[in-house]
Amino acid sequence: MFTKIQALINREIQEENEPKETAVLVRVLCLIDILFLTIGAVDTGVVYGCEVCIPASLLILLMVGVFGLSYKVKMKTLVPMYFVALSINCIVLVLLLGLSFMFQAQFYVLFIIFFYRGAGTKLDRVGSVFISSAILLFLIFYIRINGSIIDVDLSKFNVLTFFCTAYILAKTTCFAYFFRRKFSASEEKIIKYSKKLEMLATTDPLTKLQNRRGMLNHIEEYSSEIMSNGGMLTVAIGDIDYFKHINDTYGHDAGDYVLETLAKIMNEFMDGKGMVARWGGEEFLFSLENINGDYAFEEISKLLHLIEKYEFSFDGTPIKVTMTFGLEEYDDNIGIDKVITKADEKLYLGKEQGRNRVIY
Ligand code: GH3
Ligand code: MG
Ligand code: MG
Repeated sequence: MFTKIQALINREIQEENEPKETAVLVRVLCLIDILFLTIGAVDTGVVYGCEVCIPASLLILLMVGVFGLSYKVKMKTLVPMYFVALSINCIVLVLLLGLSFMFQAQFYVLFIIFFYRGAGTKLDRVGSVFISSAILLFLIFYIRINGSIIDVDLSKFNVLTFFCTAYILAKTTCFAYFFRRKFSASEEKIIKYSKKLEMLATTDPLTKLQNRRGMLNHIEEYSSEIMSNGGMLTVAIGDIDYFKHINDTYGHDAGDYVLETLAKIMNEFMDGKGMVARWGGEEFLFSLENINGDYAFEEISKLLHLIEKYEFSFDGTPIKVTMTFGLEEYDDNIGIDKVITKADEKLYLGKEQGRNRVIY
């Protein structure tokens, strides 16, 4: 039963490109109105008979009508429709039974629907507050001067006065819940979007490795943590040998293939040892964590041989690839920039000495 009602409330609207959240809110509000009007119609009907029962039944039909239309019409029609239907409700009930049941309090919650995101323009919002207030003031003055159609004896309606308070409470709680839900959904979207942006800003699109910014963020975060725990950090820069020649001989796509394949090899190799990033065109930066310079030298030498032996093949053409590496142990006193510069100087030393080697 409950899941059936839930499915009914949450059903999509037939109009395409219409968000259903506002329709769902209107449906819940209509159900609260229908429930309350039924209780009210029965309770007052028992005491005053058809004079109350008939208008109350017509009002119930009106709200059922709005509920039904919530599946068919656009929100810019449905929201004013609900606004008008509930205004009619309040006017009829107040004229009939006076101010004692607090039906007029519905006007306080009535215009809030126009403040629900996507449910109304600025003009709608200002207009609804203005119209609600005008009708409310008119009703209060009218009843004070002329009195209600039925002279109500409040002592006969303990149940109904309780439900009148519950009615206002239910409506305001409903609005609070829907506003909160909408707010959380937007918040989640923003968090997801900013995470995606951050990911895009720190990832190299070709190799899917972290880029320079991603690596610097990582080292900045990691270096202070590792140093305060008495750990080690070694930085290595690797540069592909004669990469321009690879591009010139086999084409730019072959060059890209070499970069992508190397990235996979290096990323797998670094698993559990730290991180590798694309530092620039054909240069890669390694952060070897909890690894001292000597051990890093051994590790990077293994990588060097792995690359040297790897059979790169683009469109069936074998390509020989080697790399040169420069290594420097991280020193908190000189900072990461200087450590990288030192590793870079060693890399160029390696290039001068004939390439395909690790210099520490
Ligand atoms: P060395 O051994 O001294 O490092 O020589 P090299 O040819 O590797 O160095 P050089 O700096 O002369 O050339 C690097 C080349 O890398 C030039 C540039 O066109 C190429 N390159 C940079 N980024 C990319 C890329 O994303 N894709 C491709 N295919 N080539 C790139
Ligand atoms: Mg190079
Ligand atoms: Mg280079």
